[in-house]
Amino acid sequence: MTAMKSPLSLTVLLVALPSFAQTTPPDFARCLDGLQAEARAAGVSEASYRRFTAGLTPDMSVIDKLNYQPEFRMPIWDYLSGLVDDERVQQGQAMLAQHAEVLARVQQRHGVDPATVVAVWGVESNFGQTLGKYPLLQALGTLSCHGRRQSYFQGEFYSAMRILQGGHIAPERLIGSWAGAFGHTQFMPTTFERLAVDFDGDGRRDLMDNTSDALASTANFLAKAGWQSSQPWGFEVKLPSGFNTDNEGRRSKRAMSEWVARGLRKVDGSPLPDGLGSAGLMTPAGPTGPAFLVFKNFDAIYSYNAAESYGLAIAHLSDRLRGAGPFTTPWPTDDPGLSRAERRELQGLLILRGHDIGEVDGMLGDKSREAIRVEQTRLGMEVNGRGGQKVLRALRAQ
Ligand code: CA
Repeated sequence: MTAMKSPLSLTVLLVALPSFAQTTPPDFARCLDGLQAEARAAGVSEASYRRFTAGLTPDMSVIDKLNYQPEFRMPIWDYLSGLVDDERVQQGQAMLAQHAEVLARVQQRHGVDPATVVAVWGVESNFGQTLGKYPLLQALGTLSCHGRRQSYFQGEFYSAMRILQGGHIAPERLIGSWAGAFGHTQFMPTTFERLAVDFDGDGRRDLMDNTSDALASTANFLAKAGWQSSQPWGFEVKLPSGFNTDNEGRRSKRAMSEWVARGLRKVDGSPLPDGLGSAGLMTPAGPTGPAFLVFKNFDAIYSYNAAESYGLAIAHLSDRLRGAGPFTTPWPTDDPGLSRAERRELQGLLILRGHDIGEVDGMLGDKSREAIRVEQTRLGMEVNGRGGQKVLRALRAQ
């Protein structure tokens, strides 16, 4: 396009373009032109770059996502009750059975047990059912040219193009989150390049459509993050009354003998097991809520997504998949969180009361929370826009 000299020849070019082609807006085209040399230096051939950026248009909704500051901070019991509910446990157990043979071989090769691998899968992509809806080149191209952290996203943009250039995934299949995580494992492109595995040996590392590649890649991620097959992630513990949890945490690892000396027991009252490595004490809802001793394996899970609540969701789901029940110590609240089934029920009740909350999807977003606020006001309840057991029960009763 830049070589075109006169309006006349521009017209000729536009006519010559296939009718489905989109036109890249000039600002965006200039930005993409400006990145080409760097992409080339990063291993994206000129032909690939031209092919993958042809007709690319920015999607400014990803910049809105980048800048979004949630005013609502979800309590950990809401976070966990949506991620680890009976539905996900049942589906996870079905997946364990369905993929038992692959998971056994994955464990043999990478040393990570089936329940842990399937728990990550369930939390990351709901067992491959929620892969994201953003075409990755468009999202990463936009983030490379607009908003904060452009140089970070440029690295991911080039990486996505290298993956496509390598033929691992078809360009039209490369769809993921607004920030560029994709596939069953929701890896960022550079994580894919470092850690994705071609488990079935067909020459492609396909995390979009190949379950065995995806499961093995998750296990490989955890193995490289320091997973130790002889160790648990951790377990729930009982603190002696008045125990001071100041200065304790995931990172403050102490020998098991020290925890024994300080009076900790497993939550069922039995003594702490011998022969395990050092562990940190996590009390995600303060000293009166559930308490956990967590080992190095918890850190490996944590490195997947750098949030302790996230790590706990995967760790707990893995226990539930092995047949364990919910945590023994209740969360310090009189209004526990909702499962996804209960969230869908709540959304249905809000719709029945005339609220426009969009799709019933089991996710309580801004529209659902606004409707909950209206109902809480009407019902004379505390108005916080939070979907918990109390507002669900109140609406059910009407
Ligand atoms: Ca493969």
